Amino acid sequence: MLVSLPPVSVARREARAQAAVAATNTDAMIVTGLSNIRWLTGFAGSNATVLLTDDRITLFTDSRYADRAPRELAEAGSSAEIVIARADLGARIAERLDGASTVALEAEYVTWMQQRDIAGRWLPDHEIVATGEVLDRVRAVKDEAELARIRAAADLVDDALRTITPMLRDQPTERAFAAALEAQIRANGAAAHTVETNLGFDTIVASGPNGAIPHHAPVERVIEPGDLVIVDVGGRVDGYRSDMTRTFCVGSLTADQARHYDTVIAAQQAGVDAMVVGAETNAVDRAARSVIADAGWADSFTHGTGHGVGLDIHELPRVAATSGADDVYEAGTVATVEPGVYLRGLAGVRIEDTCVATIDGAERLTSFPKDPEI
Ligand code: ZN
Ligand code: ZN
Repeated sequence: MLVSLPPVSVARREARAQAAVAATNTDAMIVTGLSNIRWLTGFAGSNATVLLTDDRITLFTDSRYADRAPRELAEAGSSAEIVIARADLGARIAERLDGASTVALEAEYVTWMQQRDIAGRWLPDHEIVATGEVLDRVRAVKDEAELARIRAAADLVDDALRTITPMLRDQPTERAFAAALEAQIRANGAAAHTVETNLGFDTIVASGPNGAIPHHAPVERVIEPGDLVIVDVGGRVDGYRSDMTRTFCVGSLTADQARHYDTVIAAQQAGVDAMVVGAETNAVDRAARSVIADAGWADSFTHGTGHGVGLDIHELPRVAATSGADDVYEAGTVATVEPGVYLRGLAGVRIEDTCVATIDGAERLTSFPKDPEI
């Protein structure tokens, strides 16, 4: 059955982006991050540059996208002018910067070669300023159309897990289980949507002692009865991703496994409970980490507690002990809460949900049940 999604509208994003550029005290920004461009204009192609000033937005792309760019921008309600450019890109940008003196670049999305072209050849008379994470910061707060797509991506995964997890009883290899799950996610996407669907990222299946390696890639290990199995998986709908981890047990948990599992469940709940509008994200890290430390496993939780999710699988905010005053939950901030306890040579447990901060507290966008025993 086809799922209907609310239409994307970038009109409000345009105003938010222009305000963010103004706050950098520059006259314009050359946007080169493709996810930032998609968020701002609706354009989903692989080659584009956007010039953002306080009164206009211009999208430059090449002739391959002459038909597609106008369609995507119209669907998103973008006000951007489309200019087909190639070798003359610098001249086309320069002629639209009459009267501007300072121009911001996105430091994390500009190559050294581009920077030399822009500062040396295209805009030698402008002051070029490196900025970081300006639009990334703005798009960390999602609108309803974005939340609907992340939820839809999560639903594809939930439905696939319901179909595929019983296979864990049949002693599949990690790779065979991952492949079956991924195929089911793709099939569910094709059945439920007319927009593009796919995996959110390469699935992690880590069984038995492999579970102690947080970013283990599936191998030919056979999943045995009694194993704990970490499955970290996401979907993608119309560009937006979900990210979820469940840990399963093939058979019944032993007492030791139950203590391991219950500790991570409690840590994850403490983290979700601390995801409050106005809170710094490091409060969530602290809340989750203290539960694990109290259980005696402080040294076995070796990564940050979460990250933003949206058009990119890892985006702002950071959710870690080192997160600072810039990483704050606002109403609409989407981020994961994913503590884990990794016991070297033995097993791992990680539990992850993608959540949205709301004025009524955090809401989980990923909702597959947390009953571990298969
Ligand atoms: Zn994950
Ligand atoms: Zn994650």
